[in-house]
Amino acid sequence: MFAAAIDGPAGAGKSSVARAAARELGFLYVDTGALYRAIALYMLEHQVDTEDPQAVEAALGAITVDIGYRDGEQQVFLLGENVTGRIRTQAVSEATSVCAGIPAVRAFLLELQRDMARRHSVLVDGRDIGTVVLPNAQLKVFLTASAEVRAHRRLKQLEEAGQPGAYEQILEEIRERDHRDSHRETAPLKQAADAVLLDTSHLSFDEAVAALVALVRARQ
Ligand code: C5P
Repeated sequence: MFAAAIDGPAGAGKSSVARAAARELGFLYVDTGALYRAIALYMLEHQVDTEDPQAVEAALGAITVDIGYRDGEQQVFLLGENVTGRIRTQAVSEATSVCAGIPAVRAFLLELQRDMARRHSVLVDGRDIGTVVLPNAQLKVFLTASAEVRAHRRLKQLEEAGQPGAYEQILEEIRERDHRDSHRETAPLKQAADAVLLDTSHLSFDEAVAALVALVRARQ
């Protein structure tokens, strides 16, 4: 088994780059953000106040979260129901970033993530994979891009989806989320001391995938 931890901020292209690299390597791609999103979805749908850590912690007792794969694509299950199609809304993104700061939420998902890495060769995409979840991963990559480049990429995605956005507002949202993810007390987003920095600001998508695949092969 080979485990690579791929950490970095939102919008750096981690998920698309890691997914493509995993396919090329024959590894499973594990999107840990989807697990946090499933928990946030539950809280939103059950009117649990995500700003109240005790309420969130109490609600965790009623939840199960699992990972499956369909045609090579990760699916996330909340209480046995496939919620993969429902976790990508803006409301869920915001609630997730708040829930993810609650220690009980992080503890709840720890074993599930470690278990995936025990059973399969994986590229695990997250924020604290190299620092907390898999401190002994064979490879740790901190994949990032400047906030401006990430905002431009997001703007392009939105335009392609027929939902034009405002650059300044998107940039502001990215900065806010970066700040919240890197300044929280529990498992903040930070580069592990032994992680390789992969800055994709000036790389094409194919170049970023090739760079990640090469890093894995060099350690295999
Ligand atoms: O990666 P994605 O944008 O789907 O993650 C959503 C949110 O989940 C992040 O903004 C972050 O707050 C949280 N997260 C986390 N730790 C992870 C993965 C995601 O705290 N390993």
